[in-house]
Amino acid sequence: MSEVIVHQPTKSEFKRMAMQLGYEPIRHGHWDEGHEMMTCTNCCEQFDLYFKNDFNYCPNCGAKMDEKEI
Ligand SMILES: [Zn+2]
Repeated sequence: MSEVIVHQPTKSEFKRMAMQLGYEPIRHGHWDEGHEMMTCTNCCEQFDLYFKNDFNYCPNCGAKMDEKEI
């Protein structure tokens, strides 16, 4: 088996790192979609809609995007 390979962190690794830092996925929210941006309903941070299908959590506050849109 080869040893550690340096690579760019993937989104799941980013999530894992966030959890290791103490960000438990205890917050819940959903993406409030705009024309080009989506807004985290938990922290109001905006991200490009392009990432919608990749982010099931907020990279900013760690909220899980499993809340049903009302
Ligand atoms: Zn957020």
